[in-house]
Amino acid sequence: MPSIVTQGVVLRFANYREHDRMLTILSPQYGRIDALSRGCRKPKSSLMPVSELFVSGEFVLYQAHEHFTLTSATLRDSFYPLRLEPYRLTCASYMAGLCAAAVQPGQDAAELYALLLKGLYFLSYDDNADALETTSAFLLLFASATGYRPRLTRCAHCRTPLDPEQNGSFDIEAGGLCCPDCTSRSTFAVSRQQIDWMKSTLKSGLLPKEKSDGSALFELLRRFVESRLDVRVKASKLLP
Ligand SMILES: [Zn+2]
Repeated sequence: MPSIVTQGVVLRFANYREHDRMLTILSPQYGRIDALSRGCRKPKSSLMPVSELFVSGEFVLYQAHEHFTLTSATLRDSFYPLRLEPYRLTCASYMAGLCAAAVQPGQDAAELYALLLKGLYFLSYDDNADALETTSAFLLLFASATGYRPRLTRCAHCRTPLDPEQNGSFDIEAGGLCCPDCTSRSTFAVSRQQIDWMKSTLKSGLLPKEKSDGSALFELLRRFVESRLDVRVKASKLLP
């Protein structure tokens, strides 16, 4: 079987045997790849620097049937500053965990790959970016990239157009805002400012986010996104 060469970012790893590591890599064109990094924990292994969490770069992988083994890699960014900021590290781990849960092997993941790299970049290098606000924006765009873009202009139940001047309520199960007639005890109240924040974030994509109304939406967006995934994401428990 041939080798494949792909851009990628390490979403997680598990130490394996005495010197090895199993890496989970997100690739824009091959989706999630579980690959053995053989001998990477031996002193002086050239694979050690590229077998760490959040490392992005170009990976060369040998494929035998369903199994991938890392042959070599060129490191582009290790997002090192995340290691110095526990809270930002937790936010980054949450983003990576969401990608690991959503992406299947062989699936096109170009949009999520680009989104994750941007998220890691702002958390690592932009001191003005509020960590929770940026994570909330990531959640919203993650929902959109995985096919669950929330409905914000019409009622998610009855399709009545919503008044953009009014506050609203969000129904997680229905997947968006709902009109006053469809509001119930299970919906979340959201302010007009928060609705505008969601609309502008969906329009502009992930940008460095300063503290505003978005971080207050974290809990809602977390529940919304995690309700669409089958698996729990560990880092979620440590946030906000
Ligand atoms: Zn309605």
